[in-house]
Amino acid sequence: MAETSYDIAVIGSGPGGYVAAIRAAQLGFKTVCIEKEPTLGGTCLNIGCIPSKALLYSSESYQFMEKYAPQHGIEASGLQIDFPQMMKRKTEVVSTLVQGVAGLFKKNNVARVFGVAKLINGHEIEVVSEKGTERIQAKNIILATGSESIQLPFLPFDEKIVLSSTGALSLPKIPKKMVVIGAGVIGVELASVYARLGTEVIIVEMLDRICPAMDAAISKALLQILKKQGLQFYLNAEVTGADLKTKTPSINIIFEGKEMSIEADCVLVAVGRRPYHKGLELDQAGVKVSSKGFVEVNQNFQTAVPSIFAIGDLIEGVMLAHRASEEGIAVVEHLAGLSGHINYLAIPNVIYTHPEAAAVGLTEQEAKDAQLNVFTGTCLFKANSRARCVGDTDGLVKIIGDKDSGRLIGLHIVGSKASEMIGEGVIAIDKKATVSEIAYASHAHPTLSEAIKEAALNALGHAIHF
Ligand code: NAD
Repeated sequence: MAETSYDIAVIGSGPGGYVAAIRAAQLGFKTVCIEKEPTLGGTCLNIGCIPSKALLYSSESYQFMEKYAPQHGIEASGLQIDFPQMMKRKTEVVSTLVQGVAGLFKKNNVARVFGVAKLINGHEIEVVSEKGTERIQAKNIILATGSESIQLPFLPFDEKIVLSSTGALSLPKIPKKMVVIGAGVIGVELASVYARLGTEVIIVEMLDRICPAMDAAISKALLQILKKQGLQFYLNAEVTGADLKTKTPSINIIFEGKEMSIEADCVLVAVGRRPYHKGLELDQAGVKVSSKGFVEVNQNFQTAVPSIFAIGDLIEGVMLAHRASEEGIAVVEHLAGLSGHINYLAIPNVIYTHPEAAAVGLTEQEAKDAQLNVFTGTCLFKANSRARCVGDTDGLVKIIGDKDSGRLIGLHIVGSKASEMIGEGVIAIDKKATVSEIAYASHAHPTLSEAIKEAALNALGHAIHF
């Protein structure tokens, strides 16, 4: 059995783990990253954010050519979808990026060990792979093993008919009809991909709204826009069972008090994710886990075992790749004696539908629940000249300020390029800017971001353009 010693051993190579490992090496720690999959990058790069964004872009480009190009005077004949090529391109994007992480490991002298890790104690890990068993000693261990899709008991994933996001990102052909259970981020993003490619998509959601983490005004606007694009929704619906034995599987739901059965070629179950720590044997090492399965940590990401830390989806909080990366940097900077601080209020959240939805800070409801005295302003993209030029006028910006301090406490956008525009709100919230400072900062004309300035002016009571 081979044995090696490190300053820091990171378990998991997703955006939490690989970023932590690189930053640790930059800070002079002898670092190893242990990963059970053949490629680095975790869920985000291999089976999550990256492949979904590649398919979202490809399907959006097709939809533009099919539905909107003629308005611009662009006529194309013989427009077709080469689905295997679309999937091949997605795989190439993933492959380039995961190789990039391997290159970064080499450049920064991060050692890489392939295999499944098990904690022996606070300083020792056993790694099992086809090659055998290896022991790794480390002064500190960072757990970054991420999360996995939640299954419904009567719909076990087979990734052919009952799909998790992983299966939905690798289908061999475009389904004719798809049921999506859960109108959260994964549900609406993947429903958008297939609806644009011609699939009839029906989304079943147990709550009375979609994307429940978003501000109510954004969630309502996005629902109307997605309905206009042809997506069908059953909200306030209960999924009671499924018949998977027949040639065409069907999903049973109760909607408005009536039992219904929806037939489809496949069903995507997107009801959330839960922390993944299979095989780590946390108990044996003394690491405490909450009743919901999250690893318990203090403000420095330290578990009940002082030399073991945990970050990302494994610990309580919004499951986002960039949050995990921030925590990866914070935990190793803390180990190096630096500050390692994260402003969680300034972590953005994006849904890559078209138009996109993006948010940072508090929703109006969260602000009210926190007893804050709020003032709000909005601007519809219909009133924005750049949105008119590009023909993307759906959506709005909503800004939320705290009356007592004047500070921006929430920025919520549903609109084209919202993912790129939200950065303004991130910096403003992080730097404690006021709504007035945003309103009086010059925004280039004509740009979509002028809608943020206009929403801020509206919050102050003197919008110019509507
Ligand atoms: P989610 O929590 O965003 O949404 C799950 C939805 O399913 C909710 O609306 C919930 O009410 C609904 N639901 C739960 N049980 C149900 C049931 N039995 N029947 C009908 N509806 C039900 O979860 P997700 O979409 O699976 O995403 C998982 C995680 O991955 C999220 O935390 C998300 O932040 C992250 N993610 C982020 C991005 C991004 O940043 N763009 C993309 C994909 C995933």
